[in-house]
Amino acid sequence: MSRLATRTGRIDASGIRKVFDLAKSMKNPVNLSIGQPDFDVPGEVKAAAHEAIDAGRNSYTPTQGAAELRPLLLEEEKSFTGREWKESELLVTSGVSGGLFLALLALVEEGDEVIIPDPYFVMYKHLVALFGGTPVYLDTYGSGFGIDPDRLESLITPRTKLLLLNSPSNPTGRILSRVELESVATVCRKHGLLVISDEIYRRFAYVEMVSMAEIYEDTLMLAGHSKAYGMTGWRLGYACGPEEVIQAMAKVQQYSFVCAPSFVQYAALACPAVDLGPHIENYRAKRDLMVGALQGSFEIGPPDGAFYLWAKAPAGHTGTSFVEQAIANNVLVIPGGVFSEQDTHFRICYTVPDDKLREGAEILCGLAGAQ
Ligand code: PMP
Repeated sequence: MSRLATRTGRIDASGIRKVFDLAKSMKNPVNLSIGQPDFDVPGEVKAAAHEAIDAGRNSYTPTQGAAELRPLLLEEEKSFTGREWKESELLVTSGVSGGLFLALLALVEEGDEVIIPDPYFVMYKHLVALFGGTPVYLDTYGSGFGIDPDRLESLITPRTKLLLLNSPSNPTGRILSRVELESVATVCRKHGLLVISDEIYRRFAYVEMVSMAEIYEDTLMLAGHSKAYGMTGWRLGYACGPEEVIQAMAKVQQYSFVCAPSFVQYAALACPAVDLGPHIENYRAKRDLMVGALQGSFEIGPPDGAFYLWAKAPAGHTGTSFVEQAIANNVLVIPGGVFSEQDTHFRICYTVPDDKLREGAEILCGLAGAQ
C-alpha cells in the first residue's frame, strides 16, 4: 500500500517540465518555450522592495493582504472592470497560481465538473483533478479558439460547478471579445454558473481586452503581477469576486499560504506608477515580426494578446512529432498536447530578442517547407 494520498496519483508532472528537461541537452537553443517576460522587475519596484526589507516590513501581513496594497488593487479593479468592489471581495494571493489553488480547493469537490476551454493552461486540469473534480473540455478548435455558447450549454449538467476562462489565453494568445463574453454570460446566467476568469495576461492586449467581471456579475477574477512586471519569482496576485467565495479562499489561505510575501506586497505599491507601454509595444512588434515570418508556412490562431502564438503543425505531423524535429534542429517550442486533449499544434513564446525570433522562424519555416 502506498503511503501517498491517492490524490497525488491523479496528477502528473507538468508536460512543460518534460520539454525543459529535453532542452537541457541542447546547446544554445533558440528557445521559444519560456512562457515569461524577458524584462526584469522595473527599477522603482526593486527599490521599493529593498526599502520594505530594510524598513523591517518582513513579518506576516493580514491574510487578506497588506492594508496599504488593498485599496490600490480595489481602485485598479474599479477602473478595469467598471465595478465597485467591496473590501470583503478582494484577497491578495501568492500569484495567480495561489488564487487558482485556493479557489478550486474552496469550490470543487468529488464528482464536480469544471468546464475548461481546450486548449488550456496546464495547471487547470491538474488542480481540478487534485481536488476530486472532473475536467470537462470545451473544444474551441472549431470556433477560432473562441467559445461557442451552444457548445458550452451542451456541456452543462447538474454536476457542473464552474467555467474556467482564460483571456488573453495561454497558449493561444486569443482574447475573448465583448460580444463573445456576453453570449457566454447569457448561458452562465441561465444556469447559475460561476465563472473563474484568469486574466493574468490582460495588460498584454493588442485588441480590446474586456474583463469577464465587467460583463458577468458572478465572476471570480484572478489577476497578478508576475507577467506584467516581470516578477514571476516574487509570487503576487489577487482575486476579486463574490464575497462568499473570497472569504472561503481567505479561510484556506490562513492555513496554507498564510499571506502573500510581505515585502513583495509593499513593493507592489510602486507598480501603478510604472509605464508598461514600452514593454507592451515591444511585444506587439515581436508578435508582428513572428506572425509575418510564419504565416506563409503555418496556420496561426488569432494573436490577440499575451506573448504566445498557437501554430498548427504541418500536414503529416502531430504537434509532438513536429516539435521533435524542431528540437533536433535546435529550436525549442512546446507541443500542443501539453495544453490540449489533441496534439495538432505547438506553442511559440516570442519574449526573446528579435535575432533569435528570426533565426527560429527561419528554421521552423524550413522544416514546414521540407514536408
Ligand atoms: N494563469 C496562466 C494562464 C498562466 O500562464 C500562468 C503562468 N504561466 C499562471 C496563471 C500563474 O501565474 P503566477 O502564479 O505566476 O501568477
